[in-house]
This record gives sequence, structure tokens and C-alpha cells, in this order.
Amino acid sequence: MNEARAPRAEAVIDLGAIRHNVALLSGKAAESGAATMAVVKGDGYGHGALPVAKAALAGGATWLGGCSLDEALALRRAGITARILTWLDTDDVDFAPGIEADIDITASSRRELGRIVAAARAIGRAARVHLKIDTGLCRNGCPDYEWPGLCADAAEADSAGTIDVVAIWSHFACADELGHPSINAQAKRFDEAYQIAREAGLNPLRHLANSAATLTRPEFHFDLVRTGIAIYGCNPVPTDDDLVPAMTFRSAVALVKRAKAGESVSYGQIWTAERETTLALVPVGYADGVPRTLSGRMDVWLDGQRRPIVGRVCMDQLVVDCGDHEPEVGAEVVLFGTGRGGEPTAREWADIIGTIDYEIVTGMYRPRVVRRYV
Ligand code: PLP
Repeated sequence: MNEARAPRAEAVIDLGAIRHNVALLSGKAAESGAATMAVVKGDGYGHGALPVAKAALAGGATWLGGCSLDEALALRRAGITARILTWLDTDDVDFAPGIEADIDITASSRRELGRIVAAARAIGRAARVHLKIDTGLCRNGCPDYEWPGLCADAAEADSAGTIDVVAIWSHFACADELGHPSINAQAKRFDEAYQIAREAGLNPLRHLANSAATLTRPEFHFDLVRTGIAIYGCNPVPTDDDLVPAMTFRSAVALVKRAKAGESVSYGQIWTAERETTLALVPVGYADGVPRTLSGRMDVWLDGQRRPIVGRVCMDQLVVDCGDHEPEVGAEVVLFGTGRGGEPTAREWADIIGTIDYEIVTGMYRPRVVRRYV
């Protein structure tokens, strides 16, 4: 490959934006006396877990969160020494390498705790454990009826020095819907779970808040906030916090052609030129993460203006109507970016196709999209 050539599909990641966003969030957390975890699962929500982890730690985070032990171990192997919490693995995972690597591990059931305790005993090293209570999201997390038993088991293993119970924690279902009644209901159940843990003899830290709660509910910051989407600059709640989107998805014009009135574009011929116009071919499609459902419903940013995608988005290419403007072959095309210059954003894509910006940016984690860090 010609290394000097611009990639056809490029995700440009602004690590300065991540540092800035984390500094903003950790500043809010610090006002409540809470530390900040940067959640870097899903390869850093599609931004690259390792570079994001380094930027987040530079911005003021002191914890990292990954979903699986594999994600955490990859960060350790890359030299990250900060605390890392994981929360979901399959039942056959070997916890021993995680304990050896000083990873904080979540137990969501007595069975899972039993497996962590067994692994810690086998290697003769205490495991750092966070007990997760299901307060209403009903995914992983220990159900109410098992919680007293889980706390009792954990207290026993903690007293024996086999584990160190660091925290209890839970996760909100609707923190991004301001005033949703489930937020207070979950917080109440979390408090009840905490009392039960204390009665079992534990004295754990507490963590509950995701990005939305970090931005809007300081009373739920407790000891640690777990911020994900906001560190990437996507605000899940309508606040005016100065979060800067970190990912710009770009390509370049591959071909320019004139089309006569009456000519149709792309599969299915769903768009026909009403008058003579200039079309720019952009060499990205749904194999690069541009949803086909954006066909005819979204613009790109090209030569200082929004210009509409016309006809169907294909696997490898899409067509933009430039009207009387004739772009240069090779001109930059921004598919989505910060929005600050007028370009579309990941949120706009999400709104149109009926999803959330989390899915858009995380979906850029794909082989044909080259990442570049600035
Ligand atoms: N905590 C847990 C357990 C999560 O699964 C996630 C992400 O889904 C987060 C925190 C971060 O959430 P958000 O990206 O909404 O800040």
C-alpha cells in the first residue's frame, strides 16, 4: 500500500478532546469528592481503548472500566497501571490472570463470587472484588433475593483475606431521561443494598453514576463515577456542558462527473437529477459504517458546505450532489464530526436511523476504517 495516500475511510480521533472532556467530567466528580472512571470497553467506544485510556488518565481519570477481562488484560500488557474494573465475562473465564494483573473484578452472583474466590485461593493472592446489585436494569447484577447471601459470602472471604471487597455498585436504566421515576427508585434500592452490605460487616465504596448521572445528578456520584459516552464528547443529556466530540469520520472525493437532467443515481434509481448537476463520488459505504438507511437522508461536509447524499448508499461508495460546484478529486469529505463548523454529527446520523450515537461511533471499529490520532 502507498503509505502516503490518504485512506479512503478514516476516523480521526482528537485525543485533546478526550483529555478536555475527562477534565470537565472529573472536575464535576471531584466537587462531590468522587473519583472518575473512564469506560473504554468496545475498544474505547470505537476510538481505540489504549490511546483513549492514556488520554483519559492524563485528563484526570484514575480508573478505567472495561467489560471483559480480556479488554483489561490488553491494557495491562500495554503498560497501563491504573485501576481497571471489569464487569462481564462468560462463566468459563479464568479469573487467575486478572487477579495476578491487579484487575478489579465484578461479582454479580454467589456463583461468580465463588469462582473468583476459588481462583484467588488457587494462586494465593487476594482478589479485588466489586459486588454488583441489580437495582432495576435487570441485566447483570445480583437480584435482591440473592444479595444478602452474596454479601455474607463476600464478608467471609474478605475476613479470610481471600478477597478484598472494594465496592458495591449498580447501573442506571434511564439516567438520560431527566426526571424518570426509575432513577430515584434505583437509587433507593442501591441504598438498601448498601445497608445490607454494611450489616454483613462490609465497608465498601459505592459507584452508580454513568455519564448522564455524572452530568445531572451529583447526589449519586458517591465515591466513583463511571463515565463512558461523555468522555468521547457525545452528551447523552440536554445540558450545555462543553463536551467536544472526539471522532471525525472522513473520506475524500474519488471521482467527479456531470449528470444531465433525468439521469438517476445508484441502485434502485431512487434519485433522479432534476437539472444538470455535478456529482461527487465518495468511496465509503456500509462496509465502512455508513448505514444504508442514510440514503437520501443525510448530508456530508464538502468544500465548506453541507451537500446531500443522493441515491442509495452502496457497500463501498456513495454519491453527493454538488449542484453547480465542482469539487477537486481528492477534496476532503467529512461524513460526521464535531458539528462546530456545520458538519453533520454522529448524533444526527443516530437520530435519522433511529439509534444512539454510542452505536454510531462504536460501529466505526471496523477493519476498513483507518484510525488516525491527532
Ligand atoms: N458502567 C457500565 C456498567 C456500563 O456498561 C457503561 C456503558 O454502557 C457505563 C458505565 C458508561 O455509560 P455511559 O456511556 O452512558 O456513560
